[in-house]
Order: sequence, then structure tokens, then C-alpha cells
Amino acid sequence: MDCIFCKIVSGALPASKVYEDEHFLAFEDIHPKAPVHVLVVPKKHTPKLPDFPDNAEGQSALGALFATTNRVACDTLALDGYRLVVNVGERGGQVVFHVHVHIMASFLH
Ligand code: AMP
Ligand code: ZN
Repeated sequence: MDCIFCKIVSGALPASKVYEDEHFLAFEDIHPKAPVHVLVVPKKHTPKLPDFPDNAEGQSALGALFATTNRVACDTLALDGYRLVVNVGERGGQVVFHVHVHIMASFLH
């Protein structure tokens, strides 16, 4: 599949990884817009956030994405203040069509 983040997940493209488990990967954004700029990505390809169905399976996937984002921000990066961004669709500024949460912050502790 011609998806940059799937290639990072598979190891075909390099990334500066900060967290990995069975279902998620977090790595540094290649063009950081803040001193800390990390992307949290589900390993399973889903193009856009609203592609998660509004049923138990989709809610579980969304919950896991945000629970993992909490873990990466609070535990891995030890941030106590940060901004989360999810761009949705071209008109929402989404460039990579593989769901991801941006974690952005000014300081590492
Ligand atoms: P979005 O506009 O929400 O789709 O954000 C996509 C983000 O992915 C941008 O902030 C890019 O800088 C970042 N990005 C694109 N290619 C790579 C890559 N190979 N490694 C890390 N980050 C990337
Ligand atoms: Zn993908």
C-alpha cells in the first residue's frame, strides 16, 4: 500500500520511534512545528478519524488511540502540558491519510 505511515509501521521507511506496542507506534514528526512534536499512529491502516465506525469496535479503537496518546504524552515524554491535534480531510489540513494524533509541546522535563 502506498502509505507513508504504513511503510514506517512495516519498517520499510525509517522513523525516530519514541514508543511502540502491538497496536500503536509513536515517532517524531519529520518537520516539527513545536520543540516536541510526536505522531501517534495505529498500526492498522485507517485513512481518517471518522472512518472509525460509530459502534463498539470503532469506539474501542478510538479509546485505545487516545489511551495510547495519554501514555506517550504523560509517561514516555513526561509532559505535563501539551496540545493534541487531529487533522481530518484535505480541507482540515490532513496530508497523510493514515490516522494520527499530533502531540505538540514546548518543553521536555
Ligand atoms: P497531517 O497534516 O495531520 O496529515 O500531518 C502529517 C504529518 O506527518 C506532518 O506534520 C508531516 O511533517 C509528518 N510526516 C510526513 N512524512 C513523515 C515521515 N516520513 N516521518 C515523520 N513524519 C512525517
Ligand atoms: Zn497507512
